[in-house]
Amino acid sequence: MSVKVENVENVDVLARTQLVIETALKKMGYAESLYELLKEPLRLLTVRIPLKMDDGSVKVLTGYRAQHNDAVGPTKGGVRFHPDVTEEEVKALSMWMSIKCGITNLPYGGGKGGIQCDPRSMSFPELERLSRGYVRAISQVVGPTKDIPAPDVFTNSQIMAWMMDEYSHIREFDSPGFITGKPLVLGGSIGRETSTALGVSIVMNEAAKVLGIPIQGAKIIVQGFGNAGSYLAKFVHDAGAKVVGISDAGGALYDPNGLDIDYLLDRRDSFGTVTNLFPNRITNKELLIQECDILVPAAIENQITEENAWQVKAKLLVEAANGPTTTIATEILTQRGIMIVPDVLASAGGVVVSYFEWVQNNQGYYWTEEEVNERLHKILVDSFHNVYRTSQEKNVDMRLSAYMVGLKRMAEAVKWRGWV
Ligand code: GLU
Repeated sequence: MSVKVENVENVDVLARTQLVIETALKKMGYAESLYELLKEPLRLLTVRIPLKMDDGSVKVLTGYRAQHNDAVGPTKGGVRFHPDVTEEEVKALSMWMSIKCGITNLPYGGGKGGIQCDPRSMSFPELERLSRGYVRAISQVVGPTKDIPAPDVFTNSQIMAWMMDEYSHIREFDSPGFITGKPLVLGGSIGRETSTALGVSIVMNEAAKVLGIPIQGAKIIVQGFGNAGSYLAKFVHDAGAKVVGISDAGGALYDPNGLDIDYLLDRRDSFGTVTNLFPNRITNKELLIQECDILVPAAIENQITEENAWQVKAKLLVEAANGPTTTIATEILTQRGIMIVPDVLASAGGVVVSYFEWVQNNQGYYWTEEEVNERLHKILVDSFHNVYRTSQEKNVDMRLSAYMVGLKRMAEAVKWRGWV
């Protein structure tokens, strides 16, 4: 098989994902042809989106939609608006979505989209035109039974609402099931907004129980103060933990006595920025190696690398972001006895409640908050223990075990369909 282990301490998220998929499939005894199929998305659409700016000029932006594999069911996954979006990243992200859906046993394969842009420098009307332009560009390959988008980095329920409206106009019927993460009044699900963070806190609790770390009084660092990071900080703070560090794109705050999370949430802007209000901030890099019990990277890829993995002080790393830890960093942390709850498990709460939203849209019948949270809780507790048990039984790290659990259903579906 093709990917060489010695080449993977890099920031190439696709190569590192391919390596884990390859190793997981091999360990489970599947044929090489299955890896050949799953090492890349089945489809990748690249689009050019002309965007009229408020000053009358036109910018042409590049967007993507990757569909990893649809043997299990329609593909599913978010759309990010970010200057660093690349084809490789979107491909890897679609593959991670497949693993998340597999671990939590949702009837989906993985998908992902992105537009290379900086939404922080765009006006509301520009963002609306861009969202609608993207849907027009990808409308032929998406749909409620084909590929269902959702929010991701720097996209939110307002953007989902514009996208759903555009899609409904194109198809000429109301299509709430086209996209998830919508506002409640347009068929969103109760609990979707906080679901990623709630999911992180559920698996964190289970992992902490295994390690004998009481959450009450535990020192937690959360890197990133966006949707996942900010709600997570609030949840663990309310559960009695001490949030000693937080950060955003501009820097980080660390206080061993605990930060005033309610105050920080109150002062945070809509892109999750708050540290610029404090002169005593440190860097994101410095934050990751401060004293704590639990470290939660909840920002972007490639934060824990060969460079800082030896200095991480936490006993437990819970990956709320997608792809925050490189391959060699994973090896170093595992060797040091630090438990990793991998991204494909820790951040799966979002897509689980997206699935609930889609089910509710299809039924036209809406659930209560208790129903959503109870079902989410059960799925994630079972998923955590399934991954943990597999890692113990097969003597593999938690990431490899998560991929083994996550790929099983897709591998079987591909075989039953007679594709390989
Ligand atoms: N963007 C989120 C993720 O990476 C959610 C995807 C979804 O809800 O479909 O898991």
